[in-house]
Amino acid sequence: MPDGKHLKPLTDKMFRFNIPLIEGVDYKMLTTRPRGTNDILPGEVEKWHYLEKVCRRVCSDFGYQEIRTPIFEHTELFLRGVGETTDIVEKEMYSFYDRGERSITLRPEGTASTVRAFLENKLYAEPQPTKLYYIGPMFRYDRPQAGRYRQFHQFGIEVFGSNHPSVDAEVIGLACTVLEKLQLTGLKVHINTVGCPQCRPRHLKALVDYFSDKKDKLCKTCQERLNKNPLRILDCKSDICRELAKDAPTTRSSACPSCEVHFTKVLKYLDALGIEYVVDPRLVRGLDYYTHTAFEILVEGIGAQSAICGGGRYDGLIEQCGGKPTPGIGFAMGMERLLLTLETKGIDLSQLLTHPDVYIAAIGEKPQEEAFKLAMELRRKGISTEKDYLDKSLKAQLKAADRLGVKYTLILGDEELKARKIVVKEMAKSEQTEIPIDDIINYLERGLKTND
Ligand code: AMP
Repeated sequence: MPDGKHLKPLTDKMFRFNIPLIEGVDYKMLTTRPRGTNDILPGEVEKWHYLEKVCRRVCSDFGYQEIRTPIFEHTELFLRGVGETTDIVEKEMYSFYDRGERSITLRPEGTASTVRAFLENKLYAEPQPTKLYYIGPMFRYDRPQAGRYRQFHQFGIEVFGSNHPSVDAEVIGLACTVLEKLQLTGLKVHINTVGCPQCRPRHLKALVDYFSDKKDKLCKTCQERLNKNPLRILDCKSDICRELAKDAPTTRSSACPSCEVHFTKVLKYLDALGIEYVVDPRLVRGLDYYTHTAFEILVEGIGAQSAICGGGRYDGLIEQCGGKPTPGIGFAMGMERLLLTLETKGIDLSQLLTHPDVYIAAIGEKPQEEAFKLAMELRRKGISTEKDYLDKSLKAQLKAADRLGVKYTLILGDEELKARKIVVKEMAKSEQTEIPIDDIINYLERGLKTND
């Protein structure tokens, strides 16, 4: 792990303001974002607001409350809460030492932090189950490509305190409802049972037996996995390993009676909700604290990164993190992939762009002053207002108003100001009238109300 000391000379230099900040710094670094990150620009951000609104609304309808946890946590939390043999922990975490020499990690996912907050804030003492959701950035040192970034955003939910199979179905149902509200159809729910601590040893033994004579053909990582965590071989992305694993014993074939009962009930509840699913024996979560249900929602046509949502039950995780044995289940959905899917499916969110109500075009110093005051007053009244800041010509200001798509353009020059009047142009009708300046707020309020 880096010791962080290599950062010192640069930061020290930066903090000494009398030394030019740029010295020794590549200019390109100042105008290029780090690989795998995105700027969400105006025009795009409205889509994010909309997605977030849908997620929040559905969560509220299902009785889930929002939780906001820190962007960084102690590294130990993720070693324990995500698992030391996972790709995330082995290869993808942004970890560093802070100035107090503590190992800190930018959160790579949301479940571990939510579990930590549940324990630290004693949410278990409240009536159970605890139903939470979060939306926010996550960080993984992944190989960037379409739909895969180093800073990305997840919407996720977690339910702590109930092992009832209907909760598994409700969690999947919530994900499907969000997708439905976004008009995303034709998505596939893949589901499997990954067993429990009772039946897992039997399955692990069956896997070791199956792969032992194929060991040499497995990829390097899977050869190690065979000793450390054979279940994860089923999760390997290498074509060769996938082919070798084709006939591997499934988790379900080793499932104990209680796992089988739980799984059958989950499927029954999904049937009751009318949710279509594919039982996918290849779907696994390779860590001990994952139990019973694992699921993914896949979408076609967005490239290799087809998983839009992944989740499952983790009845052992809270205990693993130092709490009393408490069942848990959740999912995380990738917001970037959601947007990509909407785009691919031709679902147009551009109508979400908002336009100011009013543009004030003013010519001359006094009219500009008056326009400045009026803009402020209108905004205080909740009428969104834009104006010129660059002393542009009237023609250029009218063009700007047009481009912004405002409902009303107000025009104010020295003459109008002298007469305490203002020219009002209703853009949709191309009509122009003169209104006394003192009446303009009432006039606009009335007009905008009827337009609503
Ligand atoms: P996971 O936490 O790995 O189960 O991922 C849950 C969801 O988050 C996935 O189905 C993706 O939609 C999204 N996701 C995971 N990793 C990335 C990434 N590097 N970039 C963008 N989205 C991601």
